[in-house]
Amino acid sequence: MTERIGHWIGGKLVTGESGRTGPVFDPATGERTHEVDFASVDEVDLAIEAAREAFVGWRATSLSKRADVLFRIRDLVDQHRTEIGTLITQQHGKVLSDAMGEVARGLENIEFATGIPHLLKGGFSEQVSTGVDTYSIRQPLGVVAGITPFNFPAMVPMWMFANAIACGNAFILKPSEKDPGASMFVAELLKEAGLPDGVFNVVQGDRVVVDRLLEHPEVRALSFVGSTPIARYIYETGTKHGKRVQALGGAKNHMVVLPDADVEMAADAAVSAGYGSAGERCMAISVVVAVGDIADPLVEAILARLPDVRVGPGMDPESEMGPLVTREHREKVASYLESGPAQGAELVADGRTHDRVGGEGFFLGVSLLDHVTAEMDAYRDEIFGPVLSVVRVPSYAEALRLVNENPYGNGTAIFTRDGGAARRFQFECEVGMVGVNVPIPVPVGYYSFGGWKHSLFGDTHMYGPDGVHFYTKQKVVTARWPDPGTSAVDLGFPRTR
Ligand code: NAD
Repeated sequence: MTERIGHWIGGKLVTGESGRTGPVFDPATGERTHEVDFASVDEVDLAIEAAREAFVGWRATSLSKRADVLFRIRDLVDQHRTEIGTLITQQHGKVLSDAMGEVARGLENIEFATGIPHLLKGGFSEQVSTGVDTYSIRQPLGVVAGITPFNFPAMVPMWMFANAIACGNAFILKPSEKDPGASMFVAELLKEAGLPDGVFNVVQGDRVVVDRLLEHPEVRALSFVGSTPIARYIYETGTKHGKRVQALGGAKNHMVVLPDADVEMAADAAVSAGYGSAGERCMAISVVVAVGDIADPLVEAILARLPDVRVGPGMDPESEMGPLVTREHREKVASYLESGPAQGAELVADGRTHDRVGGEGFFLGVSLLDHVTAEMDAYRDEIFGPVLSVVRVPSYAEALRLVNENPYGNGTAIFTRDGGAARRFQFECEVGMVGVNVPIPVPVGYYSFGGWKHSLFGDTHMYGPDGVHFYTKQKVVTARWPDPGTSAVDLGFPRTR
């Protein structure tokens, strides 16, 4: 018997009635463990109505009471890290230690949002004209929605809802239909923390839900994280309907290794960042750009590490890399091990030969393609799996050109001992997040996260100060407390005097 996963609307579990559902698998066993309800338009409207009603009281709740609720949310998520991590592993497949890391990074966003009284401070100018003061305030938008990808089923929702609700909005989450369990668990924690019913809602489903959120006039803003084609669609459709939209897309992250780099350190970083979470991270390293004569020793050092990567079920503490999320995704990733060599790359490690491949789970071992060029599919596509490519280039200038000509601009890293070269790269590369000898430069919660080019559509990055900005609108008040002695009719344009 598969278990059912429903919606969370108005502070309670609501079983879907649309008659449409989708399967949720345990990627380690291939077993279909859950059936998730797909909401109808009416069910989405129910959630929007619940959020609209809750918004009225929540936006009027004092900052200290809102902060209080966020501190309780923080404590409850902290206490339940293992349960959340386990749900992630059982539905996504990533190893438990990695899932726990995801929860820890998500917690940073909740911790940031506990500072909301400070974050929402406005500006004040006394005496902008005689007897007149001006001040700016930031107010919530109303009902806002978040649409999230499969690869971080707990953290990415936290990127969004922590700031959104702290700012006084009511939030509707549409999680990935592939691993929706963690968001339902978190919804219960938010209620337990004292968040009023309707301030946080979860509506499960597919495009039907997304399209309704995009067109409903009561939804004021949409945050999206997922693949580039959908991000572009969300941005274009949402803005056409007059909404504020931030839509983060896919990635192809390059790790540039200069000839002076520490080869062992660079190889450790490439293996960790290329195969961690089975490559299903938007900040995973997908391409190693080996500059000059470091290529041979670097490839050798990477290859030497691959037999030690322990691939297995995510709940086994011995495993370092779990399966891929679905059978279809695994097949797609494995197809690059056909197309790569057919287009001229050298397959130096073939994950299809791993013992676990061929069983019921969605496993693929670690794979390495060498001598990849910019024309090959393995380079052009976001593979989103444990397939690392090595592109060999003769110079720093060629490496930079590759990075800057790539349509994505999420993350990149440079490995070198030369501070001047690193600084030049930081100055010249057209990418939103840059690591210097750091392969996965995900900003901490008090900065903001976002790529450039096809990795982000919109103006603001996600979480941190940009998140507060995104979920509020500014109001500027100009006030005079009348002194009857100075009052007079004046039809001229207001001026300072
Ligand atoms: P996806 O684009 O397939 O799905 C993301 C969300 O959009 C899901 O909730 C899904 O249900 C919904 N969706 C899918 N197809 C839709 C459609 N046609 N119309 C409306 N909604 C639709 O992405 P995914 O496979 O879940 O996640 C992996 C992708 O997310 C990768 O491309 C990865 O790079 C990207 N990602 C980016 C970031 C970032 O910060 N830039 C972070 C994590 C993941």
